[in-house]
Amino acid sequence: YEAKREGVRCRFFSPELTERAREQVVLAGELRHALAEGQLAVHYQPQVELRGGAGVGVEALARWPHPERGWISPASFIPAAEQAGLVDWLGAWVLEQACAQGRAWLDAGRPLGRVAVNVAAPQLHNPELGEQVAAALARTGLPPAYLELEITESLMVSPHAAVVERLEALRRRGVRIAVDDFGTGYSALSYLKDLPIDRLKIDRSFVGGLAEQERMRAITRAIIALGRSLGYEVLAEGIETEREHQILLAEGCRYGQGFRFARPMPPQALSPGP
Ligand code: C2E
Ligand code: MG
Ligand code: MG
Ligand code: MG
Repeated sequence: YEAKREGVRCRFFSPELTERAREQVVLAGELRHALAEGQLAVHYQPQVELRGGAGVGVEALARWPHPERGWISPASFIPAAEQAGLVDWLGAWVLEQACAQGRAWLDAGRPLGRVAVNVAAPQLHNPELGEQVAAALARTGLPPAYLELEITESLMVSPHAAVVERLEALRRRGVRIAVDDFGTGYSALSYLKDLPIDRLKIDRSFVGGLAEQERMRAITRAIIALGRSLGYEVLAEGIETEREHQILLAEGCRYGQGFRFARPMPPQALSPGP
């Protein structure tokens, strides 16, 4: 009986969960330190026109070269940052870096097109987002039309009126709005009629199944048709193979991003040579 009760208790206080929570706290502390010390980096992944391959922009992706653990993926440190209330700081830092880099490319006479920056939930719900963006643009001198904000679809599904107003204000300034990870947000789709949107980014979980699964292709075809008929640009994420590229072209998708074209890389790797 004793053993059984212990077993039950173990499940309640799930040591695994506690361990993970503890790790998040440690990670958050190290992240705060890394941010303060300027140890984070931003890499950039090209976005291209699927026909012809011309670059149309880059997505800024945060990178954390941890001194002991190597490169930690944003998929794990962004949630840690959110929990620790660090994401506004991190987001503002990435935004500033990306705008400065976009401006530097313009100045070098090699504009790489728009710079897309991911926006996390706490940033979207921060009334100061508009000022934050305006300040970054003003400080760096990047024209607003060169900035795109990527917002994950799940955040768009039932937006507060204040969020809609915030996005509309940004768009009136000339900043573009993209819906990231489209198709994964349990979408009610009705939000599409109310929100100011310029681009849909088809989630890479669909693209990855394109070549093998007719159903993925059917869903992707429907997303492309939906986006196009609403007047949005449609970009497919996570294109890895020639075959996926060809299918997307055949289905009328105009833009893409993925390892097939280029991996995310440090800005020097994308800059013009002498
Ligand atoms: P995301 O915004 O959907 O970014 C695209 C992710 O797909 C990136 O992962 C990119 O490296 C990866 N990717 C691009 N092409 C391919 C491909 O062909 N195959 C595969 N397998 N993956 C590909 P990454 O950099 O690890 O970022 C993961 C997520 O973390 C991002 O997903 C985004 O939601 C979040 N994130 C990254 N940087 C930031 C940031 O500065 N702020 C916020 N709020 N979130 C960020
Ligand atoms: Mg993104
Ligand atoms: Mg995202
Ligand atoms: Mg995405």
